Amino acid sequence: MADSRQGVCILGATGSIGQSTLDVLRRHPARWRVESLGACRDVEGMLAACREFRPRCVAMGERAAAAQLREALRLEGLPIEVLEGATGMEAIAADAASPIVVAAIVGAAGLRPALAAVRQGKRVLLANKEALVMSGALFMDEVERHGATLLPLDSEHNALFQCLPRPDAVRHLELGVSELILTASGGPFRQRPADQLAWVTPEEACAHPNWSMGRKISVDSATLMNKGLEVIEARWLFDVPPERIRVLVHPQSIVHSMVAYSDGSVLAQMGNPDMRTPIAHALSWPERVESGVAPLDLTRVAALQFEQPDLARFPCLRLAFDALQQGGVAPAVLNAANEVAVEGFLARRLRFTQIPALIEAVLEQAPSVAADSLEAVFRSDHEARELAARWMAAYGERL
Ligand code: NAD
Ligand code: MG
Repeated sequence: MADSRQGVCILGATGSIGQSTLDVLRRHPARWRVESLGACRDVEGMLAACREFRPRCVAMGERAAAAQLREALRLEGLPIEVLEGATGMEAIAADAASPIVVAAIVGAAGLRPALAAVRQGKRVLLANKEALVMSGALFMDEVERHGATLLPLDSEHNALFQCLPRPDAVRHLELGVSELILTASGGPFRQRPADQLAWVTPEEACAHPNWSMGRKISVDSATLMNKGLEVIEARWLFDVPPERIRVLVHPQSIVHSMVAYSDGSVLAQMGNPDMRTPIAHALSWPERVESGVAPLDLTRVAALQFEQPDLARFPCLRLAFDALQQGGVAPAVLNAANEVAVEGFLARRLRFTQIPALIEAVLEQAPSVAADSLEAVFRSDHEARELAARWMAAYGERL
């Protein structure tokens, strides 16, 4: 009998989002089939996923990792093809055998594979917000041109998608939407006094109070750059001008975001903080399937608080709004500088408080040009990384 299950490709399969996706798929073996998986260098993680899900094909970003994996699969007698490098990643993303692609690579490295899936008109579940931050208008143009279905996995954007009047409509303002309200947990340093922030460690920054995530996004949550990237992401996903996007700190992470309407209504999407909810939603939309997430018990949560973000202690959020205002390649520059700064902080070559200082310096130095081609975007990304590395070498303080 023909296999009626839909094939799924997961880019970033060994990461936090990738593993949560596999957990949702594990619960629905009759509905979806894991067709292909991609990761950078985690051979053990990929091997474990291969044993359990038996994909037809996998791709490893690093060639040495691909060679190791090939050998391990051969020893175990698993007939799985192993592709490698960026071209391998794009090949599994574009392969017609997987009409659903989960874009969950971290950082700029995810942009080309995500676009490869978009260009095949697939259903693309986007976690890789950096891709959209870098190439906003260009990316959305490709989505439209190729008739792809772009569904947000980021919990805030998935919440907005669920609260908007017609998810597929682009003219939200005409439908009475007055504001998109993104909630932010505030991260692990929400109550840390300003004069102590220079001494916080990568370990503290990665210990998020409500979410368990990869290291890069954990640091972004601690600086509030994650929320800044999400403001830019929302601007492109929903075609809403920046002045209609607001951020509220909500420490419980139960309300994942809200849509305010012109009649005074505010629609919120709630749930326990667990990425399997937005993942299950986007996989099955417009239907709903079980995700493994515990039901929300509001009597246990008891109180929901909301407060203004503190832009003095967390300047990254302001920098993101500034970059969006500036337009052109500025968001790509912001993203690239942030990636370098976060790596520097994780390697203890840069203080926490130097992350926004570095980004601001790079934004000032980088030429501001139009983001009218992918080449222009990648050129700016590259230049910003060089400026950032130079700044770090000159001013970075070791922890
Ligand atoms: P992670 O660090 O846990 O995993 C990253 C994955 O990307 C790994 O599988 C890694 O192998 C792969 N990868 C890295 N570089 C690669 C490359 N050059 N080529 C191929 N694969 C590569 O990160 P994560 O927390 O799962 O986050 C992934 C993305 O999802 C990020 O863009 C993040 O902002 C976004 N996101 C994550 C969460 C979350 O809860 N973790 C929530 C919302 C959005
Ligand atoms: Mg988010």
